[in-house]
Amino acid sequence: MHLGRQTRYWIVLGMLLVGFCGICVLTLVELRRDSWTNAMTGARNLLTVLSQDIESNIRAYDRALTAVQQKLADPRIDELTPELQERFLFSSTLIEPYFVGLFVMNAEGEIMHDAGSVGPQAQNFSDRAYFQVHQNGQASGLYISTPFEPRRHVADTVIALSRRIDAQDGSFDGIVVGIVRLAYFHELFQTAQLKPDDSINLFTAGGVMLMRSPYLESQVGRDMSASENVRRFQAAPSGEFSGIAAVDGVARVYNFVHVGDLPLILNVALSQEGIFAPWRAQAVRIGAVLLLLCVLAVTLAVFIHREFARRRRAEATMRRSEAQYRLLADNATDVIIRLDRDLVRRYVSPASLHVLGLAPEELVGKRTKETIHPDDWPLLESVVQGVRDSGTQAEAIYRLRHRDGSFVWVEGRYNFVAEDQGFIVVLRDITKRKSAEIRLAAAHAELATLANTDGLTGLANRRRFDEALHAEHERAMRDGALLSLLLIDVDRFKRFNDRYGHQAGDECLRRVARAIESCLRPGDLCARYGGEEVAVLLPGVDEAAGARIAERIRRAVELLDIPHEGNEASGGRVTISIGCATFDPARAPADGEDAALVAEADRLLYEAKRTGRNRVVSQGSIGSGPGIPIPEREEERLATVDAYREAARAVPSESLDLVARRAAQLLDAPVGFVSLVGADDVTLIGRHGLDAESVPREVAFCVHTICGQEPLVVADARDDPRFRGSPIARGEGGMRFYAGAPLLDPQTGQAIGAVCVSDVQPRKPLLPSQRDILKDLSGQVVKQMKR
Ligand code: GH3
Ligand code: MG
Ligand code: MG
Repeated sequence: MHLGRQTRYWIVLGMLLVGFCGICVLTLVELRRDSWTNAMTGARNLLTVLSQDIESNIRAYDRALTAVQQKLADPRIDELTPELQERFLFSSTLIEPYFVGLFVMNAEGEIMHDAGSVGPQAQNFSDRAYFQVHQNGQASGLYISTPFEPRRHVADTVIALSRRIDAQDGSFDGIVVGIVRLAYFHELFQTAQLKPDDSINLFTAGGVMLMRSPYLESQVGRDMSASENVRRFQAAPSGEFSGIAAVDGVARVYNFVHVGDLPLILNVALSQEGIFAPWRAQAVRIGAVLLLLCVLAVTLAVFIHREFARRRRAEATMRRSEAQYRLLADNATDVIIRLDRDLVRRYVSPASLHVLGLAPEELVGKRTKETIHPDDWPLLESVVQGVRDSGTQAEAIYRLRHRDGSFVWVEGRYNFVAEDQGFIVVLRDITKRKSAEIRLAAAHAELATLANTDGLTGLANRRRFDEALHAEHERAMRDGALLSLLLIDVDRFKRFNDRYGHQAGDECLRRVARAIESCLRPGDLCARYGGEEVAVLLPGVDEAAGARIAERIRRAVELLDIPHEGNEASGGRVTISIGCATFDPARAPADGEDAALVAEADRLLYEAKRTGRNRVVSQGSIGSGPGIPIPEREEERLATVDAYREAARAVPSESLDLVARRAAQLLDAPVGFVSLVGADDVTLIGRHGLDAESVPREVAFCVHTICGQEPLVVADARDDPRFRGSPIARGEGGMRFYAGAPLLDPQTGQAIGAVCVSDVQPRKPLLPSQRDILKDLSGQVVKQMKR
């Protein structure tokens, strides 16, 4: 038979309790037996002591009787006087305080001798039982009478001990009687300490009560031979039994003994109640404690049972929810992973097969690091550390290796589990989303590139250039780095279009752009600045290196060898001019703007154009250093100058002064002049607003003007490294503004001098129309002098 767990629990508890109770009952039974044994032993001891005392005393009294008896048998007693007889018979025979009388009676019951009184008494005692039993021959030896009140004394109740006196022929000749006070027994019994319901009884052999303790006067002398108990006393010399007392109806245990061979029966009767009263109290106490223990045990058992039941229910609930969670995990499309503190997988949900092509058992026990893309591991490691530090959760996007070797993009949400310092990870396959993102990002990048790219040349466009310039300029200011800018312009391109057509122009521009690009480093930015102009940003490049790169570019375009008839001065092929400016944060004002760098590059580009095209002009190359620029073929030029100087003599000086004045007026300048640049001096052949006739060649601005074909404009001489140190520019009235158009000899194309304006105030650079005015005036002067 199968018993439920609960039933077994209660059975075990019940057995335990029964066991407890059993032990207690056994103990109580044992104790009860002990109580009984102790009581019986006590009773027997008491009985022994009392019976010995009685026996020895009665014997002593009896010896007195026998002594008298023997003395009476002596025939010589009759020869003595009555007085001597008394003395002979009773010398010291009374044993006080209980043996109070000793008589000798004749066959008629008269007292013949009396130990205690003086002379024989007249009374007759033949009616006494102690006399009659001897007279009738009913008693042999010592006879002990029932209690009676003595006639002669007013003493208390007594008993008589009597012995028969035989005559010579053996007939009855009287008795010897001893009187014993019952007080003897009374006081003897009182030495025993009894419990309330216990008693000590002394009977004669015939069943008459001689004494009882506790003392009951009414009972002393009562004949109880009819009682069941007394019959049992009489039936055996000693014994023990339970019975109901005839005297008071109390149930007692009787221990009895016949006192020696005396006709006396002594018993100690212990009340059953008394024997077991202490045991009962003990039993009640033990029972109460046992009950208490049982109640406690049952309470505890109930409590434990409830606790177990509660725990079982909780476990069942947990198992149910665990099963539910497992069901969820098993059926979720996301992979659910349990990691321990060392990032070793302890559980992997079945979705791993779908996402990574790997069954959970292939992943469990392994580390995340083994399957993650090496590039993504540092990111994940930092995310995991972050989650561990903050104790919260975080997400990371990374790649995991699929069974087929490819990588799957996943989004992993890491939840920290403080309990074991591990993690719960939910992995979602985001490959589709990620590839869409990548495509989108690529499209964005393409769009951004398109938005930043020039359609014709494929270079960065102007917008991109402006942004990059701004960013690089800021960076240079912040980092104290150099930044060089090249502004490149195709020479005589209008003519190229005019000669070869616009489409060829476009193709030319594309080739030029590629040639420029081919000379650059990866970090450099090459942009179409506008029209046929290209700008190149060279971060971290100083002026000298910038100029070298520019020269390389110039050479690369030249080597393309694209025919360009309109550019005959540069060999009939396509060439470029480059202005190279460098921004040095150490020298620039703190609030300098990037536009200033462009303006400087533009100025230098213009200088390159002005000084003959197909060249690079940087700040250094336009003569910031010592010495003055010497034009090419200077010998030939000086000869031409001499020729013109001759010719100038023929021209009225007023007409040249007029040109000078007109130039000053048209350009709204205080000074105008026409100059010829000789070997050592610059001669002013026409003047307006100044008196000097010549200036040393080394300080004249026109020396620079004659190096180019286009007008030279110096907005502020103090800003231009070429003129900053010139004595003409120095001081209060020093020349700040200068603009001069070269006087070009139509035959040689060389510049012999210039038509110039100047001012002591700095001014804005000339507008193209103003330059044209100067160029016109220069042409007029040459024409006048040629004539
Ligand atoms: P310079 O040597 O002084 O630069 O002479 P230039 O003729 O090149 O003068 P400028 O730079 O002022 O002329 C620019 C010419 O470039 C104007 C235009 O005909 C031509 N151009 C500008 N953009 C394009 C373009 O996209 N395609 C073509 N084919 N030509 C262009
Ligand atoms: Mg241009
Ligand atoms: Mg051009």
